Amino acid sequence: MAITGIKGFNDILPGEVEKWQHIEATARRIFELYGFAEIRIPILEKTELFARSIGDATDIVEKEMYSFVDKGENRVTMRPEGTASVMRAFIEHKLYAADQVAKLYYMGPMFRYERPQKGRYRQFHQIGAEVTGVTDPKIDAQVLSMLCHFFAELGLNEPRLEINSLGCKECRPVYRNALKEFLARKIDQLCEDCTRRYDTNPLRALDCKSAGCKEATAGAPSVLDHLCQGCADHFASTRRYLEGVGTAYAINPRMVRGLDYYTRTTFELVTGLLGAQSAVAAGGRYDGLISELGGPQLPGIGFAMGVERVALLLDGREFRRRPDLFIAAIGEAAQFEAFRLMNSLQQLGVSVEIDYEGKSLKSQMRRSDKFNSRFTLIIGEDELSRGTAVIKNMDAGVQKDVELDAERVAETISKGSAAC
Ligand code: ATP
Ligand code: MG
Repeated sequence: MAITGIKGFNDILPGEVEKWQHIEATARRIFELYGFAEIRIPILEKTELFARSIGDATDIVEKEMYSFVDKGENRVTMRPEGTASVMRAFIEHKLYAADQVAKLYYMGPMFRYERPQKGRYRQFHQIGAEVTGVTDPKIDAQVLSMLCHFFAELGLNEPRLEINSLGCKECRPVYRNALKEFLARKIDQLCEDCTRRYDTNPLRALDCKSAGCKEATAGAPSVLDHLCQGCADHFASTRRYLEGVGTAYAINPRMVRGLDYYTRTTFELVTGLLGAQSAVAAGGRYDGLISELGGPQLPGIGFAMGVERVALLLDGREFRRRPDLFIAAIGEAAQFEAFRLMNSLQQLGVSVEIDYEGKSLKSQMRRSDKFNSRFTLIIGEDELSRGTAVIKNMDAGVQKDVELDAERVAETISKGSAAC
């Protein structure tokens, strides 16, 4: 019996992969406009990195991590997210010594042991960005505007931006107590998870999907009414800058994040198109994380988007590439010439296909149809002796003679339909 892949671990096949390449290329292009540089981080990290940064009482650390002890007795984890690793690298390589302000982006696979379903997998992919060393809310607005710019560039008007503030280490505990007090009377309504984390992480009940938690938290106090002056000012300025550049947003005071390190501005890009998997991207400020991981006292802000979910939003769009040219050839001499011509054209940067095994012209043309090439060229004995052949522009439906010379053919193709 053939061996299959592991549940929740997907192959990304040709036909679909072009969409991924388009998403990745768009991210690189847009993020680099905003001064972000790529960082590549390893897949395996010490388990304690995630336990310390993401937080012990989070879903990720409690039940979703792929952790194991390696042959050297080291406790290691396949990264469930990127921020912790990026900050670990930022600290380890003292990037802050050259410039406290680092703007970094990454892309790659992440691993979480979750129940696989549409938009939720065990190996999934994130594209994320992080900025260190800026407290000013201009950076909050810029990071959010960049993210919205990215989605606009993909031609998507979903997802939509929602923002909130989670306060800081001064005002969050006050809010936490107010919320706990509110929930104390309704604790029997909370789901098992939220009851368990009532003490360690009561905010999670606010975005819990269970009916009981929804009911229990209806009318709960809002975090935005509990912000200290500094956090309230920061939130107000973030909004002003967002409005200043026309980045649309909605305030969602019930938004909390599943990771402990967030402070102040938090945000999600949400869609109604993917069922329960409504968050396409999410992130926020983490002003205490860098020092928590043993680095300097520097603030940070960032986000990660789920590439699978972005790809789902792009469903139905065609990103498959078409070859520039398909060459059909009749007879051995013409097939040899077609092979040489193909090779020279590829050297010139033209993408070319032939039917390697093609016997009849009919079978070659069938293959040509399958490729949906922009141009076709048919070479037979006559063409060979004349040194010219007919090149056809398949979209415009027009054709003309072209010299059987790679430079001439490449020229015709690069001029596109105008030349034909
Ligand atoms: P969710 O609420 O959907 O579980 P999350 O809060 O766990 O998301 P984050 O840790 O903030 O997600 O990760 C950022 C983004 O990564 C999410 O918005 C989502 O698009 C994507 N993502 C997270 N987990 C998965 C997964 N298991 N499969 C596919 N994409 C995922
Ligand atoms: Mg999750």
